[in-house]
Amino acid sequence: MFEKLYSPVEKLKLAAFNKLFVKRDDLIDPYISGNKWRKLKYILAKAEAENKNHLVTFGGTYSNHLVATAAAASRSGLKSTAFVRGEKVKNEMLLLCELFGMYLIFTDRESYKDKPALFEKYFKSDVSAYFIDEGGASTEAVIGCSEIIDELNDVYDHIFCAAGTGTTAAGLLDGIVKNNLKTKLHVVPVLKNGIFIKEEISKYIPKIENLVLHTDYHFGGYAKTTPELFKFIKDFTANTGLLIDPVYTAKMFYAITDLQLKKVIKSDDKILAIHTGGLLGIFGMKDKF
Ligand SMILES: *Cc1c(COP(=O)(O)O)cnc(C)c1O
Repeated sequence: MFEKLYSPVEKLKLAAFNKLFVKRDDLIDPYISGNKWRKLKYILAKAEAENKNHLVTFGGTYSNHLVATAAAASRSGLKSTAFVRGEKVKNEMLLLCELFGMYLIFTDRESYKDKPALFEKYFKSDVSAYFIDEGGASTEAVIGCSEIIDELNDVYDHIFCAAGTGTTAAGLLDGIVKNNLKTKLHVVPVLKNGIFIKEEISKYIPKIENLVLHTDYHFGGYAKTTPELFKFIKDFTANTGLLIDPVYTAKMFYAITDLQLKKVIKSDDKILAIHTGGLLGIFGMKDKF
């Protein structure tokens, strides 16, 4: 499952840009999508090396990470359990999780905050259980994401990614530093007060000179949107043929477009946007389009 990889770099046809490219990690797999595949690659290798056959993880009701973990577990012959934040609900994402055989434990928001305690409480006696943090945040995930840079055949002035936990960004920066590139890494936090992403990245990567953080493109916070963002998605997808999701990649592409308008980046700069996948998230917001 983690051997085959299909993630081409494609040129994007947008009038304002001459050299805008996209790394299509969304094409890697429909369910183990984008950066979640990158993150799980070495997490699963470690779990298997430790003879753990039961993945236990955490996420919200629309978590791409949960679907990816469930799919990866079932394909690897492993069991999976997820603590899902909040009251019991049914939706498209959780349906997929259950189809992939994931056992869901709905958890009130207060208990959800202490993930190690939940793991301890439920799986103390299960020697096969393997703890995976929310979103897959881990050193293994950083290593997996740094391979995105190793795969590139060209050098770019700017690389852009969306950030939730900042793990993917940390991996990209790791790759940039290791390959001695001058490329600037532009990170677009999708949460409010995204400045915390800088600290998250510094936990993994001490050298952050190439990092540029754009904290004004969260559209109100995590999974928050505005009519302007939906209009942007419709125009962008109609013009490029590329699907993007309202939670992550739309905010990143909006930032790229806006920074070009503001002349922070130039039309002739060579730019690579990382499409981190997560397209199933569109269906969670179908009524807002
Ligand atoms: C999870 C996710 C992210 C956030 O990745 P982090 O490593 O947590 O910053 C970005 N884009 C998509 C599509 C995602 O599903």
